[in-house]
Amino acid sequence: MTAREKKILIVEDEPKIASLLADYLQSQGSFHTHAVHRGDLAMDAFGKFAPDLVLLDLMLPGMDGIEVCKQLRAVSEVPIIMVTARVEEIDRLLGLELGADDYICKPFSPREVVARVKAVLRRCAPEHTGEQRLALVINEEKFSASLNGQELRLTPVEFSLLKTLSGQAGRVFSRNQLMNGMYRDYRVVSDRAVDTHVKNLRRKLSAVHGSDDLIKSVYGLGYRFEG
Ligand code: CA
Repeated sequence: MTAREKKILIVEDEPKIASLLADYLQSQGSFHTHAVHRGDLAMDAFGKFAPDLVLLDLMLPGMDGIEVCKQLRAVSEVPIIMVTARVEEIDRLLGLELGADDYICKPFSPREVVARVKAVLRRCAPEHTGEQRLALVINEEKFSASLNGQELRLTPVEFSLLKTLSGQAGRVFSRNQLMNGMYRDYRVVSDRAVDTHVKNLRRKLSAVHGSDDLIKSVYGLGYRFEG
């Protein structure tokens, strides 16, 4: 396997389909595949194989594709293409908001699958499109936030600032409004304290995003988040 080959994890219980997919992807020259035939083996295989994309069948023994998708999404932003035997299922899957990146209906042509795999990989790889995709994930229960898949190590005050600003991207918040979000007891803090926290937050964002443009200063007013 060369460094540029993309790794595809195939979770498919029908051996014929699994090997058809594997053969076709590998014949394209740029994919390395690994297949498991049960849903309950998917997470383990994901951890060991570290794929760039997962092709996930819906109906599987051990654990169904919906549950596998949920478990994958709980730990990873890996691109997922769900495969189902019924076109009507796709509406239901979309309604569940599982976070899959695409859906393919059986029967499919291997050529179509490869085209979809390539399209999803392109979409999920911002360095190839030339535009930086901003993926900010805020977990309010854990007081944690990640940007483009990288954990941001924020203080509670920085977390609160980021939550307030990014919650209404484009809106200008005054320092007073930001202070109210930052300190639950509304104790008096100086404008300079807000500026210091914003400065530290910007530094942490730019370490991941590569620019300090995410939080804009608006002269005489305050700050605004550009999402
Ligand atoms: Ca199946």
